[in-house]
Amino acid sequence: MNQQIVSNSIQEINHYNRVLEGNKRYVAKKLTEDPNYFVTLSKGQSPKYLLIGCSDSRAPPNELTETDPGEIFIHRNIANLVIPTDLNLNCVIQYAVEHLHIHNIVVMGHTCCGGVKAAMAQDSVGGLLDLWLNQIKLVYEKHADLIESFVDENDKVNCLSQLNVRAQVMNIWKNPIVQKAWQKGNPVMVHGWLFRVETGYIEELLIDQQTPEEMCKVYALKFKLESEKQLSKHVSPTGSPKNNAKKRFQNMQRKIIDHIKQLKENKIDDQEGENKEIGGFIESSKDL
Ligand SMILES: [Zn+2]
Repeated sequence: MNQQIVSNSIQEINHYNRVLEGNKRYVAKKLTEDPNYFVTLSKGQSPKYLLIGCSDSRAPPNELTETDPGEIFIHRNIANLVIPTDLNLNCVIQYAVEHLHIHNIVVMGHTCCGGVKAAMAQDSVGGLLDLWLNQIKLVYEKHADLIESFVDENDKVNCLSQLNVRAQVMNIWKNPIVQKAWQKGNPVMVHGWLFRVETGYIEELLIDQQTPEEMCKVYALKFKLESEKQLSKHVSPTGSPKNNAKKRFQNMQRKIIDHIKQLKENKIDDQEGENKEIGGFIESSKDL
């Protein structure tokens, strides 16, 4: 084996071991602070926030916000995107809203985002990645004039990062799970953050919370809540479905009885007609 490959492998193994060693130190430190820390942690979670962030290794939500495990429910992907058909993210949102009863959803982007930078360029980064980044290209397309008005390349990237967070916040507003929660009176709030890697600070983006009400009406889905479903099943303006069915069945029975009665009467008429004919035939045959 090439000497260089051996040396690189040893280096990689050392890096890998360093992470596991770090875990041991972390456990020891936590147990020194609270001997029951992990026992308590294992009993369950009741996070108050759902954070959708970038997978970028420089933007770890708990560390940046000085929060502990159990406090933030987290979903991360490249460039913190909220794609309407993303099954993974939608499951996370549904679990967070409907089961963990989380009222605050945060979309956190960051400056110097590689995903945003790649979306601004024309070089392909691979089939699936190009498809993924198309979502950011759509945001760029919409705001190209503003983005290109900045001279500095980093400013352009950071401007798009901010606009991207806003676009993803809007996608959450349009999400059927969130729409349903709002209709049920669950006050889910959606926030947009930009983590500035160069300063360490998180900037809260000013996004008008009134905007959801001004969204195109097609996004404001109408749901039949469980209580309404039950109500419509038992009581309807024209009577319950069960009663309607009973009425229809009774009408059908009446029609069948009338029909059979009519058939019988027709048969009797026919027989009488036949008898008359036979009688007439007998009478006439006497003449033969
Ligand atoms: Zn990023």
